[in-house]
This record gives sequence, C-alpha cells and structure tokens, in this order.
Amino acid sequence: MPDSALNTAEQYTPQPVKTNLLGLSVSKLGDFFEQLGEKRFRATQMVKWIHQMGERDFDKMTNLSKSLREKLHKSAEICLPEVVSCQDSSDGTRKWLIKVEGGSCIEMVYIPEKDRGTLCVSSQIGCALDCSFCATGKQGFNRDLSTAEIIGQLWIAAQSFDQFGTKSPRRVTNVVMMGMGEPLMNFDNVVDAMNIMLDDNGYGLSKRRVTLSTAGMVPEVDRLGDVSDVSLAISLHAPNDELRNELVPINRKYPLQSFVDSARRYLDKMPDNRRKITVEYTLIDKVNDRDEHARELSTLLRDLPCKINLIPFNPFPGSGYKKVTKVALGRFRDILHNDGYTVTVRTTRGDDIAAACGQLAGEVNDRTKRQQRYKKRLDEEQVSGQVSEQIVKIVGQ
Ligand code: SAH
Repeated sequence: MPDSALNTAEQYTPQPVKTNLLGLSVSKLGDFFEQLGEKRFRATQMVKWIHQMGERDFDKMTNLSKSLREKLHKSAEICLPEVVSCQDSSDGTRKWLIKVEGGSCIEMVYIPEKDRGTLCVSSQIGCALDCSFCATGKQGFNRDLSTAEIIGQLWIAAQSFDQFGTKSPRRVTNVVMMGMGEPLMNFDNVVDAMNIMLDDNGYGLSKRRVTLSTAGMVPEVDRLGDVSDVSLAISLHAPNDELRNELVPINRKYPLQSFVDSARRYLDKMPDNRRKITVEYTLIDKVNDRDEHARELSTLLRDLPCKINLIPFNPFPGSGYKKVTKVALGRFRDILHNDGYTVTVRTTRGDDIAAACGQLAGEVNDRTKRQQRYKKRLDEEQVSGQVSEQIVKIVGQ
C-alpha cells in the first residue's frame, strides 16, 4: 500500500454534516441562526435570498456580514435535488424527472392554462396507499420526501421559468400537492414546505392557490385544519363504502362518511365561510360512472360546500381499467349539475409525455415488493412490445 493512501486513511476525520437551509421555514431558520450566535431576523433575509432571489451562493448574499458568510460556509449549504430530465408536451405541459438522495426519482408536472400555471408537486417516493387505478401505487413505497425535497421542486420550476428576482412574471401561480404520494402521510414536511410557499418572504402564494389533495387520512385532515388554511381537495372516486373499499383501500380504515365529515370540519375551522372543498372523482368506465353513482354522490355531498372535479381515468399498462366514455361522462356531469353542484371536468394534459393524473411513476426503489408483484402480473399477461416499454418505465428500471 503506498504511504500516501495510509496517511489519508489515518488522517481521515469525518466532516460535520452541514444543515440544508433550503427546507427551513422562517421559524426554523430563526432557530438555526440563534444557534450560530446570530440574530433571528437573519432568517427573513435568508428566506428571501433562497426563495425570492433564487440565490444559493452565500458570498452573493450582500446584506450578510463577511464573518457570517464564513460561518455559513462551514455549517450550512443550500442543496437541491438533481434534475435528470425535463420534457415538454405539445400542449405546453412540462414534466421533470428529479433524482433525490438514495437514487430514486420523482416526477413533477407544470400545467399552463390561460390565466394560471399550476405546478403538481410530489410528497413521497412512491405511495403506500395502493389505490387500484393509480400508477404511482403500483410502484410501491420508498420513503417520505424531506421538506427541502418538496420545496426544492418549486425552486426548480421557478428557476426553469426564470421567475426569481424581478426578472419575469410569475409562471407558477398555483401549487397542487397532487403528484406522487399521499401528502398527509408526510404531514410535518408537507406543512413546512407549504408554509414556505405561502410566506410573503418566500413564494408568497395565496392560501387559495395552494391545494393539498388527500385520499382520506381523516385524523390528519383534522390536524391540518389546526395548523393550515390551504385549499383542500378530497379524492372520493366512489359514492359508497363497498365500491370505495375496492378503489381506495384506505377507506376500510376511514370510511367515506367519516372522510366527508372531516372535510366539513376543515371548512368550519376557516375564518372565511366562502371556502369550498374540491371533490375529486376519477371516472372509470363501467366501474363508478353509472347514473346511480352520480345520484348517490349528489346525496352524499348535500351538506358539504364543494365543487366537484371529474377526472376521466388516465390509462396505464396493466391497470385493467378503461377511460370513461364521453356519453357516460356527460350524463354524470349533468346529473350533478342539475342538482345544483358546480362541476368541472379535468382535461387531460400532457398525456404524450405520461404527465397526466395518475401516470406519474418516477423511479422508485421499492421497499414493499409491490413493484415486483405488479411486473410479474404484467409478464404473465404477456403484453406486446410497445406496451412493455411503457411498463419498464412505470416500474422504473
Ligand atoms: N394521494 C393524493 C394525491 C395524489 S393523486 C390523493 O389521492 O388525493 C392526485 C389525484 O389524481 C387524485 O385524485 C387521484 O385519485 C387521481 N388519480 C390517480 N390515478 C389516476 C388515474 N390513473 N387517472 C386519473 N386520475 C387519477
């Protein structure tokens, strides 16, 4: 062994882990600066540098003293997840594949519309809930994303649209926590990240423009109402327990009525009584799209101030489901509309780059073996060459 190698091994001392400032809200940054022996107001300056100016280099933070910048170099960093690829759809939708620590990849989608631009953000790597019609669920679950990895997605989008500083108009006007994962199963990190989104010194988004979507974590909906007032979307997809148990297995733990009641309690906590819940209902051909389903849904939601968003099911290989027909979709919408509900139909965007709802797959190092079972089932079905290619993508190999 050469001498130099020996010396290196002997002299090795582990470097202290640096704090990643990207994921710290103003109050946590305040604690961090206090521990450094600095004043708490430095936190506001730092949030502005990172999330308004998009600055990552401490040396360019001109309102911090030289000695503070030196301390920061030693103890802190601003570390982002890595963008692996970025694809644009013919309709303007953009999808990023983002690598996070541990090697898995998540996906994030930007959907431009006439009067707004919506960023669909992931909260977990994979998902543990296993809803029967969702591609993310087929990949199994790896882990929660950290606050930095969640807010880092918005940072990446903002940078990609050159919207930091006063350079150009804000392109990301809305954020929906509707990417991969169940946001309420990663409660603290998601709430911290949303706080940075809402912070006037951060991204300054209004509470109406940040939406959290949940498949039915009832106790966490109640907890959320105690600490946040973002918009809430509830993923129902079925008007009765029997059908919902099949489509959304978490329903067996928290049945439909208890979920709807928790949404009602959420609204009751809001000071402004004009707020509404968004009800998401993915329409699947011959599964949950019949007239009687629409009528049952109408009765179920009678006492909930809400608007209903119908999502035509987006197919993926091996799902076993088909997209709702135009006729069934029209009838379902009309029944609800005639009962007085505001109903919107989510248009499918970005399906040429597999960026539509429920198609986000990323590359999950699955810990649950669900991915393996899914792939085996697909192999058994002996799907054709073209479909196989998509499957390889979905299972992330
Ligand atoms: N776990 C959260 C957020 C992620 S999914 C939730 O369930 O709400 C965001 C929305 O897309 C949910 O309403 C989900 O049910 C819907 N979705 C999932 N797979 C879909 C698919 N294949 N086609 C259409 N919508 C889908």
